[in-house]
Amino acid sequence: MGARGPWYSEGVRFECQPDCGKCCDQPGGVVFLARHDAERLAKHHEMEVQDWLDRDCTRSQNGRYVLRSREQDGICIYLNDDKSCSVYKAKPDQCSAFPWWNENMVSNRSWHKTVQLCPGLRQPEADAISLPVIQGHLEKDRVAEKGFRTW
Ligand code: SF4
Ligand code: SF4
Repeated sequence: MGARGPWYSEGVRFECQPDCGKCCDQPGGVVFLARHDAERLAKHHEMEVQDWLDRDCTRSQNGRYVLRSREQDGICIYLNDDKSCSVYKAKPDQCSAFPWWNENMVSNRSWHKTVQLCPGLRQPEADAISLPVIQGHLEKDRVAEKGFRTW
């Protein structure tokens, strides 16, 4: 970050594209969970949090809870065939925060890859998402990525 702030200080043009789902449709994609994500998703399924964690989550290599992926292709269990999200209203903060993830914005190279993946970032007519909004997503992503290991 220079004296004039991060490279996205002036905002970044973005408009999520209907029926896209490319950010979900990633084999091996990992969604980390904040504690309030687990509470929200368990409630959405009318389950106790621990029961929901046992059913719909697994662990990252260092033990943080992450959403479970389908065994056959490594894609999120909540992605429908039409690329919509079956838990859209309760989806984890990290999902809502995409593409404004710290790992995406940290370098030119990772941002370039993100722009290639996400057509919402290739919309010259889209309104710019402002710095405070981007920073809010980055903070949610940071909390989620810290995650939790015990309920
Ligand atoms: S890849 Fe981008 S445009 Fe497509 S659903 Fe995800 S955020 Fe929206
Ligand atoms: S929970 Fe929904 S938005 Fe998040 S990765 Fe899975 S399908 Fe995509």
